[in-house]
Amino acid sequence: KEERSDSGAFELFEPALRANLKQRREMELDLKAALDAEEFELYYQPFVDMADKRVSGFEALLRWRHPEKGMISPSVFIPLAEEAGLIERLGVWCLETACAEAATWPESMTISVNLSPMQFKSATLLSDIDRALNNSGLAAERLQIEVTESLFLDESDRVLDILKEMRRRGLTVSMDDFGTGYSSLGYLSRFSFNKIKIDQSFVRDMGRAENIAIVRSVIGLSKSLNMQVIAEGIETEDQMRALLAEGCREMQGYFFSTPQPKEELPRVIADITNRWTRDLGVAAEKT
Ligand code: C2E
Ligand code: MG
Ligand code: MG
Ligand code: MG
Repeated sequence: KEERSDSGAFELFEPALRANLKQRREMELDLKAALDAEEFELYYQPFVDMADKRVSGFEALLRWRHPEKGMISPSVFIPLAEEAGLIERLGVWCLETACAEAATWPESMTISVNLSPMQFKSATLLSDIDRALNNSGLAAERLQIEVTESLFLDESDRVLDILKEMRRRGLTVSMDDFGTGYSSLGYLSRFSFNKIKIDQSFVRDMGRAENIAIVRSVIGLSKSLNMQVIAEGIETEDQMRALLAEGCREMQGYFFSTPQPKEELPRVIADITNRWTRDLGVAAEKT
């Protein structure tokens, strides 16, 4: 079971990794072996719809259980996988696994999968998605794709075309970590997103007037552009209530649940549903 704070192992390992090229090479070799040895796992963190008082879906978050080094954070190994040319294979594995898992959930629940900008260079991204949907039998409408603003570093028609194709298939395309990147607001309309994820850095200190102002304007923007909005990184009841007061109905964060292995999801859903029928439902009704 995942602890509240990302495990100390991540933090100990990270600085050493940056410093040591030899270790990076070793790790890249480990990654290759890990794909064959099935050392990767997906954890799932719920999206909570406060208005409907239900779990609306889950985000798949990749974990690497290294035989000697323990759990390694995706923010460490994904850049390495990109560098080692392994991100395509890893990405396909994530799509296949996440869709197969989501196909076992109630139909009202979506699955959100993070894509690295590098996956957009793959000639087979769209057919990989189609195959994951076909193999699992999951409806395209239940698959959400999360991309970050870094996707637009090398702005190309190709990226635009792929995003359009995703939308044409009925997928939901979300802009992750919104507000932390390089993006000009122009991307939001030009690249036809369905959904904005307000980054946790703005949620963390909602007591600060500046952060409330940013959250408020992002929610306003999403409404005027006819996009869905979700806030990530909610850790406290105060943050949840502040967001609710701003009219944000979908939320995600440790306050509701940390990312969990698939075996735990029935318990996660039951926990959240039970909390709702108690006190939290009252707050949701007021908005
Ligand atoms: P992200 O997609 O923005 O995911 C949110 C990160 O914040 C996750 O870290 C999640 O565990 C963490 N988080 C969730 N709620 C809270 C909270 O209340 N407080 C705090 N402090 N943190 C919270 P994680 O799992 O370590 O993933 C880090 C990043 O790695 C992700 O950021 C995403 O960009 C990337 N990533 C994860 N899985 C995949 C994957 O399958 N493929 C790709 N390409 N990238 C992935
Ligand atoms: Mg994400
Ligand atoms: Mg994020
Ligand atoms: Mg992130």
